[in-house]
Amino acid sequence: MKVKVATKILEANDRIALENRRLFDKAGLFVINLMSAPGAGKTSILEKTLLQNSGLKIGVIEGDIAGSDDAERMEKLCAPVVQINTGGACHLDANMIYEVLNDLPLNELDLLFIENVGNLVCPAEFKVGEDIKVMLLSITEGHDKPLKYPLMFQKSSALILNKMDLAPYLEVDIDKIKRDSLSLNPHLKIFEVSCKTGDGMPEWIEWIKNKVGNERKNPL
Ligand code: MG
Ligand code: ZN
Repeated sequence: MKVKVATKILEANDRIALENRRLFDKAGLFVINLMSAPGAGKTSILEKTLLQNSGLKIGVIEGDIAGSDDAERMEKLCAPVVQINTGGACHLDANMIYEVLNDLPLNELDLLFIENVGNLVCPAEFKVGEDIKVMLLSITEGHDKPLKYPLMFQKSSALILNKMDLAPYLEVDIDKIKRDSLSLNPHLKIFEVSCKTGDGMPEWIEWIKNKVGNERKNPL
């Protein structure tokens, strides 16, 4: 019975995700669902992304169990932002996103980031209407993570390895992370980035600019 209930929850979620998808398409908006464990640097990479001259008008939905620190960081950079507090839930679902869409100027944006709740498990299970999922892994989390938490690696279009500036101080096997991630998902695009030094940011920005550009050329 429990399995049946869980399936129904995911089905209901997918229906609302499709409605979100329709509204995003209508607004000509490319949407990235950004996922990682707590502390990997999701908000930091968003700050660095907003600070680059990408030419993209970027909005953000912040998902956290509690608090509005992340939304305040986005507001400082003048990005349209909405904070969702899940009140305990460990992931965002499609309905939470649907309920805040009127609070964002969707038609004025090119790109919307949805920063999911920090968690390596269920954010990958719940669609929110995004075009793609992007995962962030801090190299401090260790090289065992792809094989221990395969779903997020399998569902993501890109993997950002963050905090690369710390590599000389860690006993972490970066090649193993890449190898195992690609064995789970051969199409995964991998970026090596440091939010602190800015290394790797230009490649990441180029990639998202291309993604948004392709969306404009091939509207649904
Ligand atoms: Mg954050
Ligand atoms: Zn959850």
